[in-house]
Amino acid sequence: MTTLRDLPSVEQILQTQAAADLIVRFGRPLTLEALRSTLDEIRARFKAAEIPALPSQDLILSQTESTLTAWTKPTLLPVINASGVILHTNLGRAPLSKATIHAMDLVSRGYSNLEYDIEKGVRGSRLIHTEAILQKLTGAEGALVVNNCASAVLLVLSALANKKRVVISRTQLVEIGGGFRVPDVMKQSGAKLIEIGATNKVRISDYEEALTESAGLVMRAHRSNFKLVGFTEEPELKDIVKAAHEAGVPVVDDLGSGALYDTTRYGIVHEPTVQESMQVGADIVCFSGDKLLGGPQAGIIIGKAELIAKIKKHPLARAVRADKTCLAGLSATLLHYLKDEAEREVPIVRMMSMTPKQAKGRVEAWAGELGQGQIVEGESTVGGGSLPDESIPTFLLSLEVKSVERFMKSLRRSDPPVIARTANDKILFDPRTVLPEQDEVFLSVLKKVLHDIH
Ligand SMILES: *Cc1c(COP(=O)(O)O)cnc(C)c1O
Repeated sequence: MTTLRDLPSVEQILQTQAAADLIVRFGRPLTLEALRSTLDEIRARFKAAEIPALPSQDLILSQTESTLTAWTKPTLLPVINASGVILHTNLGRAPLSKATIHAMDLVSRGYSNLEYDIEKGVRGSRLIHTEAILQKLTGAEGALVVNNCASAVLLVLSALANKKRVVISRTQLVEIGGGFRVPDVMKQSGAKLIEIGATNKVRISDYEEALTESAGLVMRAHRSNFKLVGFTEEPELKDIVKAAHEAGVPVVDDLGSGALYDTTRYGIVHEPTVQESMQVGADIVCFSGDKLLGGPQAGIIIGKAELIAKIKKHPLARAVRADKTCLAGLSATLLHYLKDEAEREVPIVRMMSMTPKQAKGRVEAWAGELGQGQIVEGESTVGGGSLPDESIPTFLLSLEVKSVERFMKSLRRSDPPVIARTANDKILFDPRTVLPEQDEVFLSVLKKVLHDIH
């Protein structure tokens, strides 16, 4: 009769070639831990009579290998976005341009002059790498880049509005997403909120009145993901700036999305641009690097030199600073705008500019390759908490399957996972968000799922 005494020991198993191979692949400490955990599990199951016999040494080793593979598998992996949502926050927002990826790759490989003045041979500033491009693009006197737009707003208000009275309209006390609520971030910075107007209406006279009471700052927050319609009123930024400046108070404009181009070009509503805010005299403008700009995650702060200098000196600036890969990548993305080549080079701008005819050509090719599927008209969206209700006409590949849930699950479990959407019991694939270089692997995943499920 076999007893637990017959189970090989850790030492015995370690003598085998297979164990030596695992040690080469996964390292000694982790392999030992996995092996012990495998043996513990076998002992427990054997004692509980869940297994009638002890497994062979080979089986123990293959179970150990499975454990090691599971423990070391990365969880953050690429997916194919066929949902048609261009800036899908859950899917990592903006895919990057080739030049951006190259710039990030270059500075990651070795040392760089991140904070080193090559000319003088002394310590330099990491902020100069993006500052000049941002000045040229927007006309701003100064600029700095931080971790993301949420931290940009927190930093700006902490540096400029701590213990001060900050005027903000009730029409703008919104939640941007993921727990970022404008009033909460303002309070966090130590600002005292002076809420003006009503939820649907605010007038310039409300600003003027609040500004007579020793306000330190006026904040405007772009509603981004939320539309105010019906009986509404809100003064233009230029009038808010005029009223604030007459009272000697600066204006901070949190734009969020941060378009550097006119979105009406792509048949969608006009998103306020960074240049417009600067032109009407906003003192500080904050926007995201990875929303409509289409670059790496970053928060960009531009504006008056004197205020930027104050923001740079605040201790929080160090806590939320951007890393070298972000600065290198963001510079490369911004250069596309400076060289007027964003539509060709920046993936999300290219996606927005794709015409329905081009989309139709892509889905026709997909359907031809698959030998099935309908070509139907549909709509893509911008996403990323920008441009609510706006859509861009597109063409979709529509598949009729037995079980929509099972099919979607199978797509998600593929390698790489494919994220599609569904409507009226059909699976829909939008070519707008599938990068052209992904077509081949996308189609092979689709073919496999069709084959496995039917
Ligand atoms: C999205 C957004 C933010 C936050 O930007 P992140 O880069 O995601 O941190 C802040 N303000 C507004 C108005 C936004 O739309």
